[in-house]
Amino acid sequence: MKTDAIKKPKKPRTTRRSTAAFQQASKLFPGGVNSPVRSWKSVGGEPFFVMEAKGAELIDLDGNHYVDFIGSWGPMILGHCPSKVVAAVRKQALKGSSFGAPTELESRLALKVQSFFPSMEKMRFVSSGTEACMHVLRVARGFTGREKILKFDGCYHGASDPVLVKAGSGVATLGLPDSAGVPAASASNTLTAEFNNLEQARAILSSNEIAAVILEPVVGNAGAIAPKPGFLEGLAAAAKAAGALLIFDEVMTGFRLSRGGAQEKYGIKPDLTTLGKILGGGLPCAAYGGRAEIMDKIAPLGPVYQAGTLSGNPLAMAAGLATLEALNEKGFYASLEKISAEIEALIRAEAKSAGWADRICLNRTGSMFTLFFCAGPVNSYTDAKLADAKIYARFFRALLEGGVYFPPSQYEAAFINVKMDRKIIKRVRQAVAAAFATLNAE
Ligand code: PLP
Repeated sequence: MKTDAIKKPKKPRTTRRSTAAFQQASKLFPGGVNSPVRSWKSVGGEPFFVMEAKGAELIDLDGNHYVDFIGSWGPMILGHCPSKVVAAVRKQALKGSSFGAPTELESRLALKVQSFFPSMEKMRFVSSGTEACMHVLRVARGFTGREKILKFDGCYHGASDPVLVKAGSGVATLGLPDSAGVPAASASNTLTAEFNNLEQARAILSSNEIAAVILEPVVGNAGAIAPKPGFLEGLAAAAKAAGALLIFDEVMTGFRLSRGGAQEKYGIKPDLTTLGKILGGGLPCAAYGGRAEIMDKIAPLGPVYQAGTLSGNPLAMAAGLATLEALNEKGFYASLEKISAEIEALIRAEAKSAGWADRICLNRTGSMFTLFFCAGPVNSYTDAKLADAKIYARFFRALLEGGVYFPPSQYEAAFINVKMDRKIIKRVRQAVAAAFATLNAE
């Protein structure tokens, strides 16, 4: 696919303007950022400030270009500024940006979502993945009349109280809050198990009254970790036998692993699903939905309350519709997979020629991947924690000098987009080779 990337000027990387912007922001926002993962705490240094983005690239305030492997943490699967999405948002903005009353756009997007995710018989649009996960758990509790939930170590389901829970390593534990300010009482109804440990999940399900099991079907928030064969199927069966609802948090995997997300890829039908990120094509939008009999418990039909001033926002609906239409184009996922496989192959090849093949574990599922600095395998958060985050930090900084922006954390997935064409891939190869050389030289 052709990229409309802005021409890269040949000059060494400078950071004067970003540094000034970060100093100012640090006086205004805690840590200088409006979401913690944007700070570079775990890799060192200060974040660059973005001026603009186009195709596969970000350009910072100092004019440095970076191949962007974050894509706003997932949404930008089409690359930045896809012309049809920009046009759709522009057109809608001229008609109004928020009404607090229903529009047909909401139903049009919902029908499109449903055609990709048939398990979502009814849904609600909200503005963030955090909201979607928070509300889906309330609905699950309201429907089952149970209070406990089961989540997996290393899975992130937004920043609401019940899911900000640290999991015990290896052993299922009663939840302890992961963050100051979370009442012990809200966390105490959250049980945790290790991802890919079916026996542990089964044991918890059979000895507790669990309202819902929630998981990232392919984990992205502990680095990319795929489910072992049989894990999702076994979990679905165990949840059903225990009368617990199965919730797939597809905020990250939805529309990314395939049109119909992980549930389509692995052939599992969850009771409830959360979506976000790509759904809004870069605008704030998320959704939760599932079986109609469960969703009909929500106000005004039922007793479970949920609301949002900007839910179903027309600009986000327009961006989402244009994005989902682009995903529907013939060959979209095949070309994304081809690009992703090429990027995996080049990283493996450069690691091998630099003598690092035995010291890395590259996990990739479709267009999300993580390069762990450990021998692996990485099948759980416990495994991921064995990776050497200090080496990753050095690798991250070396890549940056080569004009490639990887996640500023060893435990976050990198995202590939369809604008990563031959030229971009060539630049990535050079930067990866140079980064391994830097590790060897240090
Ligand atoms: N669920 C998953 C799987 C996520 O990756 C995220 C965000 O990264 C969320 C929920 C929360 O979404 P948001 O950041 O839009 O609140």
